[in-house]
Amino acid sequence: AVPLVVAVSTSMAAGHGLLIRDRASFERARDLDAIVFDKTGTLTEGRFGVTDIIPLNDDWPEDAILRVAAALESHSEHPIARGVVASAKEKGVSGARASDVQNITGQGVRASVDGRETLIVSPGYLRANQIEIDDSPVEKVTAAGKTVVYLLVEGDVVAALALADIVRSESREAIQQLKQLGIQCMMLTGDGQAVARAVAEELQLDDYFAEVLPHEKADKIREVKQRGLQVAMVGDGVNDAPALVESDLGIAIGAGTDVAIESADIVLVRSDPRDVAAIMALSRATYNKMV
Ligand code: ADP
Ligand code: MG
Repeated sequence: AVPLVVAVSTSMAAGHGLLIRDRASFERARDLDAIVFDKTGTLTEGRFGVTDIIPLNDDWPEDAILRVAAALESHSEHPIARGVVASAKEKGVSGARASDVQNITGQGVRASVDGRETLIVSPGYLRANQIEIDDSPVEKVTAAGKTVVYLLVEGDVVAALALADIVRSESREAIQQLKQLGIQCMMLTGDGQAVARAVAEELQLDDYFAEVLPHEKADKIREVKQRGLQVAMVGDGVNDAPALVESDLGIAIGAGTDVAIESADIVLVRSDPRDVAAIMALSRATYNKMV
């Protein structure tokens, strides 16, 4: 039989909008030492807008850059892609057509636009492929903590696009509550070092990992475990699923992808990071009473 105190707590959990897959996972929450959060869509809203278009080739005016970028991104579901498409729409820029679209997971997209090979990729992709650029025009937006992606046409880097996302207002409170419970808070992201540092500082995180490729996310969880810590992972994306499974307690954001939700032990129905602190508090209150 389920002890009464557990029944009461799980109904309290339901009141917080927590879907708990099994009782053991809720009990494990009591012993956690660290929580690793995904950045985009979890600690931040995941709603990007293009703030700067930085031409890196004189032949490309801003409108042409945005027109090609939007054609490419209209085939992607990534939050950055949605931001580029929305900004093009706002500016009334349209007309290019992309075909043969391919995702480069965790790094960008590739397609044929107006018959030319076109890519939008992360700074990490440029480095990995030894594509050298003069970074000085981009330094200012990077220092401001913005996400930067590059537009390449036929191998030529024609522009940088800077995008800004907003840190969820609930994230700061969630991190503070967790730290008060003695839990280390960390962040895992595929985004660049500078953006990650800015968010980590804003939220006073204990640690972060940036430019992590999707297949490396689970490795980072293993690394945290090797520090002797019991760790939970909180995420929303397809990319986060292996890390959710690898962690001692996988927590998915309710507004996230089906794959993340299926891989999690607990689902936050309200998509509010403060509910992570509620899980810890409820689990401790419940199981400490029983011993
Ligand atoms: P996160 O871990 O923050 O959710 P992802 O792993 O989804 O990030 O993506 C990592 C990086 O790959 C992004 O910051 C971006 O630079 C690049 N990227 C991925 N998909 C796209 C896309 N559709 N358009 C532009 N850049 C992309
Ligand atoms: Mg994400």
